[in-house]
Amino acid sequence: MDDLALRAESLDAADPLAAYRDRFLPSGDLLCYLAGNSLGRPLRATAELMDGFIRGPWADRLVRGWNDEWMEWPLRLGDRLGGLALGAAAGQVVIADSTTVLLYKLARAAVDARPGRRRVVLDTDNFPTDRYVLEGIAAERDLDLVWIETDPRAGIRAEQVADAVDEDTALVLFSHVAYRSAWMADAVAINALARAAGALTLWDLSHSAGSVPVDLDAWGADLAVGCTYKYLNGGPGAPAFAYLRTGLQEELRQPIRGWMGHRAAFEMGPVHEFAPGVRALLSGTPPILAMVPLRANLDLLEEAGMEAVRAKSLLLTGYVLDVADEWLAPFGVEVVSPRDPVRRGGHVTLRRPGFDRLLEPLWRAGVVSDYRRPDGLRIGPAPLSTSFTEVYRGLSVLRELLEKQP
Ligand SMILES: *Cc1c(COP(=O)(O)O)cnc(C)c1O
Repeated sequence: MDDLALRAESLDAADPLAAYRDRFLPSGDLLCYLAGNSLGRPLRATAELMDGFIRGPWADRLVRGWNDEWMEWPLRLGDRLGGLALGAAAGQVVIADSTTVLLYKLARAAVDARPGRRRVVLDTDNFPTDRYVLEGIAAERDLDLVWIETDPRAGIRAEQVADAVDEDTALVLFSHVAYRSAWMADAVAINALARAAGALTLWDLSHSAGSVPVDLDAWGADLAVGCTYKYLNGGPGAPAFAYLRTGLQEELRQPIRGWMGHRAAFEMGPVHEFAPGVRALLSGTPPILAMVPLRANLDLLEEAGMEAVRAKSLLLTGYVLDVADEWLAPFGVEVVSPRDPVRRGGHVTLRRPGFDRLLEPLWRAGVVSDYRRPDGLRIGPAPLSTSFTEVYRGLSVLRELLEKQP
């Protein structure tokens, strides 16, 4: 056994979260799953809860379910997620829609709440949907987008934000953990800069929620959105979450006025009146069925604790860095994620020309990772479902492929 295999074994032996792997459903042909940052694995409890929900509340209660408690799910689950993973006090988070749609609603509400200001600051390396949504809003509202050029190997830095924000800035939008490099932005510093200029902040937490510590209230953040199907294992297309700080809830008005965001949905009244609080972010019927998996995952996160998840995540990505340095660097593989644990999110991106050609042979060998242009192979080991030995096995296959097709 080589050194790295021994290290993986001893890290597994010392891992307080090791037993949680068995909570997840097995995946037949899988040798190693490294795409937990893209789509989390299903829990056994999720399968049971889904079945139980269909046979129980849905089959039994039918439409009466709306009177029972379904109306409360978007807020109740939002509160739980906020408390466990977002550092948000109750009454500020809802589960709804998709990240893209919630991003649109919040960003539109934000720029409309700062009518004298014509600028929105964002960065060139943000996730495509974030850039596209803001381009659309800028066109609708005749605003100027101020683009910060981000280094795709790193991410957005406070100095760049300081240079870009001014008294004409309505909103700044960034990802907290960059989807490509996993760079973790200094949210406290950036929020302070934006606030000093009178601008609102909107954070995309898609790669943060359930992976790295998030403390929205303490950060002084205004708005946030994120996915629940990545580190929160909510399942493909699971609904997203939105955070709207209490102090802004009466001021910001989202643009998709539907009956479910109404003060009294079932009165079927003649005009729209926004519901008090964060419920006003809802538009149409909440995706109750699609929220069921999130319940199982919030139970899991509560049991395991975010601190332990982050501690293991750093050990996992640290291990990936060691393997990359020892085995992969000789093949010209470069690490394009932060080595500094303070700035490193939950994945590590490796770069080498031709990596796109390796994705298919990797998948065929049961090693599931994902690829992001240009030349980036993302290694995203989800802490609750991944062992160190699994990472070792997956990266061994990668090394063999590099040996065979240099
Ligand atoms: C995954 C991801 C999204 C996805 O948005 P959807 O509306 O769920 O497709 C958005 N933003 C970031 C930063 C992401 O990583």
